[in-house]
Amino acid sequence: MDVYNRLARTIMIPVVDAIRGTHVAAYLEDLEETQWWCAEDIKELQSRRLQGAITHAYDHVAYYRRIMDERGLSPADISCAADLTKLPMLTKALVRANFDELTADNIPKRKLLIARTGGSTGSPLVFYKTGDDWFAHGRARGLLAMQWAGVDVADRVASFPTAFGWPNARERFLAPLSRRFRRAVEFDARDISDETLPSIVQTLRRTRPRAIAAYPSVLALLASYIKDSGQSAPDLHAILTGGEQMFEHQRALVREVFNREPFSRYGSHENSLLGTECDKHSGFHMFAQDLVIEIVDDDAQPVAVGDDGHVLVTNLHARGMPFIRYDTGDIGAWATEPCACGRAMPLLSRLTGRTCDIIYTPSGKRVTGTSVGMSRFALLGVTALQIVQETLDELTARVVIPSDVLPEQVVRVRRGIEDILHRSLGDDMRITVEFVNRIEPTAAGKYVPVVSRVSPDSWLNRVRE
Ligand SMILES: [Zn+2]
Repeated sequence: MDVYNRLARTIMIPVVDAIRGTHVAAYLEDLEETQWWCAEDIKELQSRRLQGAITHAYDHVAYYRRIMDERGLSPADISCAADLTKLPMLTKALVRANFDELTADNIPKRKLLIARTGGSTGSPLVFYKTGDDWFAHGRARGLLAMQWAGVDVADRVASFPTAFGWPNARERFLAPLSRRFRRAVEFDARDISDETLPSIVQTLRRTRPRAIAAYPSVLALLASYIKDSGQSAPDLHAILTGGEQMFEHQRALVREVFNREPFSRYGSHENSLLGTECDKHSGFHMFAQDLVIEIVDDDAQPVAVGDDGHVLVTNLHARGMPFIRYDTGDIGAWATEPCACGRAMPLLSRLTGRTCDIIYTPSGKRVTGTSVGMSRFALLGVTALQIVQETLDELTARVVIPSDVLPEQVVRVRRGIEDILHRSLGDDMRITVEFVNRIEPTAAGKYVPVVSRVSPDSWLNRVRE
């Protein structure tokens, strides 16, 4: 560990913990130890934390008290992960319909942070988090995942943050400071095009980050630009990715160009990081210390190891708005073999998760769905959204809004959507907003938020004319 990283561990993280009232340092130490525990010990720790989460939900969350009373259950009836099948799944629709009832009655309002999903599932959602869950447990898991890729807490990492913003004034103050200390290099994910890619690559060469973190679609754009322009790739120790499913062709391209196997991570805005690849790259080790992950059939019952099913998450630390058996919308399967790295943290071998196409604009931009900042649609009251690019100049936003929205509000939502899209894509695209009753999932049961029928080659030919 170099001096800078030692400083980060011994001073910077504890100081930020003190300001925020969080325990990142302690949680990271906890994960560093428990990652090597045997499966039984991890299960026992998980059961203990689950009992705490269920008791809290029963005592302080009206929604859970009601559904447990209806089923004649007391907190003692749910003492381990297998007992969770006694409770129903929690869907996004249920969160929207029971927002107040799902909010804990013993957490002061000022401690509840309003959060929203990135919309990569095509269905944006607003919900509450607490700092302990979000900034402490979530961050500790993120730091451990970095360690697995050989990246320490204060190592320089280049990233492409999306338009999220920070929940309150303290975070708006802390975030830039923390970025400065970590010497972070950030690029605007909304502005990746043939004009900006050369300067992105130059900046990577000049600032020499140890790692780069980006969505698979963004990494693939970067890699294809480097390859097409005949340059050598900037020297990076690790390539970190996540947020969308990484296709095999994207992985192969990134591996070829950067000469590194990318570390794929699996997370969501609702529950932060859920799992990550280790250096064996044989699947996602799931953070069973902090979460119960279930893979279930349509009736919310566990499927056999190796079979595909819905990925459900129970967050053992989410106290502000507990998510118990939350349906991520992803499809996954448990690995049939343990990982060669020796860690017993459960291994997800397959994930048919969120996929994202790229929107090609007439002005020469390539924009990924995630960089449109799909979460902003949630604030307009949109419950599901799909962007379909039919031709280079035409795009349709198919939008679902609640049926009780008044006509004058519909006009406002339409303008809001057009505004968000024009801001990310430019004014030279014709945008049609179409209100629909539902958005059909794909055959695999997934919502695809961005569909582009424009071929990259025809786009390239036209913008180079
Ligand atoms: Zn492993």
